[in-house]
Amino acid sequence: MPFSELIGQDRAVGMLRAALSRGALHHGLLLAGPEGVGKGTAARLLAQAANCDGPSARQAEPCGACGPCRKIARGVHPDVLVVSEERTMAREGRWEPRGGRAPSRDIVVDQIRDVVDRRLSLKRFEGRRRFVIVDPADAMNPQAQNALLKTLEEPPEDTTLVLVSGAADSLLPTIRSRCLRVPFAPLPAGLLAARLEAAGRPAEQARLAAALSGGSLGRALSLDARALEARRRAVEEIASLGPDDARPWIAFARERGSDRDAARETCQLVLVWLRDVLVRMAAGDGAALVLADLAPATAAAAARIGPAEVLRRVERTRQALSALRQNASPALALEGMLIGWFHG
Ligand SMILES: [Zn+2]
Repeated sequence: MPFSELIGQDRAVGMLRAALSRGALHHGLLLAGPEGVGKGTAARLLAQAANCDGPSARQAEPCGACGPCRKIARGVHPDVLVVSEERTMAREGRWEPRGGRAPSRDIVVDQIRDVVDRRLSLKRFEGRRRFVIVDPADAMNPQAQNALLKTLEEPPEDTTLVLVSGAADSLLPTIRSRCLRVPFAPLPAGLLAARLEAAGRPAEQARLAAALSGGSLGRALSLDARALEARRRAVEEIASLGPDDARPWIAFARERGSDRDAARETCQLVLVWLRDVLVRMAAGDGAALVLADLAPATAAAAARIGPAEVLRRVERTRQALSALRQNASPALALEGMLIGWFHG
């Protein structure tokens, strides 16, 4: 697979390839951006391109067919070390039990010490450049991150540390400041919907999943028909809530706030719906709505509330989303959103 197959990431890929061509790869890279947009793949392609024996390597493009490229793809190249959560590594048969404890859901300090103190103190085996890929880097607990600091400051020669993260801002500032950040963008909804349709999803379902995915192909693919139906019902329910009685809001917030991901997706879908309400106001009967089968509820809302009110609800919903990202209680975030909608 060449770099060109990483869709929608021209900027990040351009940065990496330019650095490779100049032979000036930074020793600490932070590949940051939403889940499921190709960060992990980019890290592997980078390691391949830097160690490729094929003719395309001069253009900073891995051939995918030579010995090093194939070893890296299979995860068995001795100079390309991939560190993941212990649990993931145990599943892949890359983890040995120590002192009888179960594998952690984190990347723990022992794993980092093993790489830093043992593996990186050895000479390179066969590659031109050594890579340590920590994916996902935000799974490192604080001790593990601290154990990596010194190596990030003074890495061994010809070694690049690649931190891959969907939550880069949760890493310690000391880690972030020692890395060159390579930003990966959320994928545009239109492009995601086209991908899903090409994979056989019905058009309406593809649009919905794309709108809910936060720009992540991985997330969009994981939203099946049943998950989408549940989110759609949530929006129907929220469309029917009014300012007079707080009891249904609280019931709604409790039910839909039992799970963080579900609460976040509900908010994202509510934003799509509120946009539909604005479109319905502007274009009337012939409006092209994303959530076509919620048209009656959308028309009713467009007739009942004014544009300024819709925009205020958009703002409140965005605030709830950002609270959810910052670990607020999902039920309280939804309740706060509804209080803001009706009594803000
Ligand atoms: Zn190759």
